[in-house]
Amino acid sequence: MNYTTQMNAARQGIVTKEMETVAAYEGIDVKDIMAEVAAGTIVIPANKNHKCLKPFGIGNSLKTKINVNLGTSRDCLNLDVEMEKVNKAVEMGAEAIMDLSSFGHTHVFRKKLVNECPAILGTVPIYDAIVYYNKALKDITSREWIDVFKMHAEDGVDFMTIHCGINRNTAERFKAMKRKMNIVSRGGSLIFAWMEATGNENPFFEYYDEILDICNEYDVTLSLGDACRPGCLADASDISQIEELVTLGELTARAWKKDVQVMIEGPGHMPMDQIQANMKIQQTICHGAPFYVLGPLVTDIAPGYDHITSAIGGAIAAASGASFLCYVTPAEHLRLPNVDDVKEGIMASKIAAHAADIAKGVKGAMDWDNQMAAARQKLDWEKQFELALDPEKARRYRAESTPEREDTCTMCGKMCSVRNMNAVLAGEDVDVI
Ligand code: SF4
Repeated sequence: MNYTTQMNAARQGIVTKEMETVAAYEGIDVKDIMAEVAAGTIVIPANKNHKCLKPFGIGNSLKTKINVNLGTSRDCLNLDVEMEKVNKAVEMGAEAIMDLSSFGHTHVFRKKLVNECPAILGTVPIYDAIVYYNKALKDITSREWIDVFKMHAEDGVDFMTIHCGINRNTAERFKAMKRKMNIVSRGGSLIFAWMEATGNENPFFEYYDEILDICNEYDVTLSLGDACRPGCLADASDISQIEELVTLGELTARAWKKDVQVMIEGPGHMPMDQIQANMKIQQTICHGAPFYVLGPLVTDIAPGYDHITSAIGGAIAAASGASFLCYVTPAEHLRLPNVDDVKEGIMASKIAAHAADIAKGVKGAMDWDNQMAAARQKLDWEKQFELALDPEKARRYRAESTPEREDTCTMCGKMCSVRNMNAVLAGEDVDVI
C-alpha cells in the first residue's frame, strides 16, 4: 500500500493494520476509525521506525488514554530506574510514555525505548537539544533545533511536543499581561528565553512547514504544546492561554493540509467550573483535534496530593471532550517521581479516564463496574480482587484486618448490609448480635 501517514492512508480509503488494531480494541467498525483519522478527530501515533509498537487511537469517541512522563534529570540519572518505571507503567496499562530526559545519555535511553517499549512514545525535542548541543541556550541555532526534531523522528518517536504556539507576537502580549505564574511549561520557558536572548522568531513556528515534511516522512504525530498553559488557578483562561490556542488552531489546519496528525495540549491549573468550557472552546478553535490535557489541577494548595487534584480535573476534562490525560504523580511540584509515585499517578489517572468513559457513554465502559457490583453483591472476594484496578492493594487491605465472619469485612461485621439483605431476601433469619 502506498501511503505516508495514517491520515494520508485514511484519506485514500486505505485501512492500515494500525487502524485494524485500534478498531478491534475499541469494538468500533474500522471504517468509522478510518473516517475519523481522515478528519483528524482520531490520531494513531505510529512512527514507521517504532517496530514493536502496540498502536492505540486517541480521540473523543474512543476510550480515554493516559500518558506517563519519565526520563532522567541532572539530579536523577539512573537509566535502570527509569526503565523500571517504564516497565511498571506499561504493565499497569499506560498507553503512552513520554521520555522527558533532560540529562545524560538521552539518545541511548530513547533508542532502548524504541526497541523495547510497546507503548506510544513521545518526546519534547527542545529538552534534548539542550543536552545534545551542550552549549548556552542562546548559542543554539534555529537549524539545530530543527535537526534535533528530525533526529527524534528518525529514531522512531511516535509523537513530539513542539511549543510553536508561542511566537514573537504572543510573547510580547504575554509580557504585557504580567501573569501570576508566568510560563510554567518547561519547553515553553526555554523557547521564550531563547527568543528573548536571540531576538529571533520561534524556530518551530518559523520552520513549521519543514517540521510538517519531517512528520510526513516518518509519520510523527504533532502534539502542539501549550507554552502558555496556566500554572495556577489565577492564570486560567487568560488572554495568553486563549491567544496561543488560536495559533494552535491555525497550525492544526496547516498540518492537516500535509496529512500530518495533530493533538493539542491543554491546561494546566484550572478551577473546576472553567474546565468544561475550555474543552468546548478547544474543540471549536482546533477543529475537533484530540485534546491532550496536562491535569488540569483543580486547586494549587495540595503538593504531595496532586495526583488527586489532577484526577478530579482530568475526569471532568475527559467527560467534556479531552481524549488523552497526562498523569500527574504525588511528587508533582516537589521532585522527580520514584516508582511508587509513578504507580500512584497511573492509578489516579486510570480512574479519571475510566470514570469519564462511563460518563460519556463509551461502548462497554460500564461492563467492568457491573461485574464488580455482581461480585460485591455475592460477597465473592476473589472475584472482587480479580476485577480491582489494583488487585494487589485490594487484597493487601483486606488481609490486614480479619473479620469475625469471613464473608463480611471488618467495616460492619455482622451488620454487613450486603450479607443481611441477601439473607432477608432469601427468607433466612438475620443474625446481627
Ligand atoms: S461489612 Fe460493610 S463494608 Fe464490608 S462488605 Fe459488608 S456492607 Fe460492605
